[in-house]
Amino acid sequence: MASTAAAAAAAPATTAKVSEVDNLLTKRVADRYLKREVLGEGTYGVVYKAIDTKTGQTVAIKRIRIGQQKEGVNFTALREIKLLKELKDPNIIELIDAFPHKGNLHLVFEFMETDLEAVIRDRNIVLSPADIKSYIQMTLKGLAYCHKKWVLHRDMKPNNLLIGADGQLKLADFGLARIFGSPDRKFTHQVFARWYRAPELLFGTKQYGSGVDVWAAGCIFAELLLRRPFLQGSSDIDQLGKIFAALGTPKPSQWPDMVFLPDYVEYQYVPAPPLRSLFPMASDDALDLLSKMLTYDPRARISVQQALEHRYFTSVPAATNPALLPRPPPKGESHPKVSDINQHDGPTVLSPPRKSRRVMPQRQGIELDGSANETRRATGESTGKSEEMPMSIDFSVFGSRPPPRPTINSSIFRGAILDKILYSRRYAQV
Ligand code: ADP
Repeated sequence: MASTAAAAAAAPATTAKVSEVDNLLTKRVADRYLKREVLGEGTYGVVYKAIDTKTGQTVAIKRIRIGQQKEGVNFTALREIKLLKELKDPNIIELIDAFPHKGNLHLVFEFMETDLEAVIRDRNIVLSPADIKSYIQMTLKGLAYCHKKWVLHRDMKPNNLLIGADGQLKLADFGLARIFGSPDRKFTHQVFARWYRAPELLFGTKQYGSGVDVWAAGCIFAELLLRRPFLQGSSDIDQLGKIFAALGTPKPSQWPDMVFLPDYVEYQYVPAPPLRSLFPMASDDALDLLSKMLTYDPRARISVQQALEHRYFTSVPAATNPALLPRPPPKGESHPKVSDINQHDGPTVLSPPRKSRRVMPQRQGIELDGSANETRRATGESTGKSEEMPMSIDFSVFGSRPPPRPTINSSIFRGAILDKILYSRRYAQV
């Protein structure tokens, strides 16, 4: 990170003189970057493509409003900067620079051509088992690095997995990540886009660990195999209903701590359908790893390091070399996003809220969201062939525009008085 920028970002100016110096410094840093087109608008601000005039490098600048906006935004940005400064790995996005300018905080990242969501949704792309192995391996490598540094990502989802021109996949958007380690530290459980949220989070746990990232990575693995999001809940209750219909309702013997979780509700028992019925074309090794990543009890769930050592990664086919992976055209040149399916009614809450309510999925077993059947049916329909195609090359599920992916609600930060205090104290340290 440029030292001038770091210095400029370091402390709020307390006198007019310091403020002038600050302005000069940040202007000089800001002038270094030549803004080009807008790449997109994220949760906290606009992302621009830009050229670093000093190096000629193309970069992505995330502009985050500070000051007059919600305090949560500032704190989130702060977390991102602090964490990213410490994380350097081939599978982690590089933060090149950070500086305040005209009331906005600017984060300069290495420019990435595309992301895993675009890969998964691109109907022109065929993902072979070796390609899927490569993408999930890079995802796990980035996560393993985070976890080794005692950092949780906490917002794992395909559009936060960016892909560079060299095919390397990198974890991005550490807005929610935070250093963990103290055993009694309590976190907000409202993290993760809902579809990737672990069951302990959905049941309101206040203490969680790296298992939440493993669950999300498991959902991403499933999504690579299916070419559509695996468990698309429309509410937290519905999300649990979808999970249980796909993987079976957990018994207390399987997950002893479950019944003590703050938002635990009893769901009607649904037996687990064979995982093979949901992923007919996946290898035995892939299914074994997937089932270990999607284990209910976070204590029994496989760790990222163990996942990387799973025989899936040593068995044939070998993971594709990242440079040879199929990718969509770089952003700005891509065709419109295509879609998926899967909007169904969720489970029904029968009686009183909270602990005593009982939740019954309207559909059971593998028909939880119609996905398994729909996928199989659609495969034959779209290809005109009766034989099954591997799900990873099943284009037929991309019929209409996808539903918007649910994202975390930034209001969880807004209400956090502690966060505000921490922010005002700690902003000066960045
Ligand atoms: P969100 O907050 O919704 O996760 P972001 O703010 O991370 O979104 O990103 C907004 C848009 O900018 C997305 O289209 C994303 O792909 C793009 N983007 C973010 N970072 C980069 C980068 N380093 N290189 C290229 N595009 C990026």
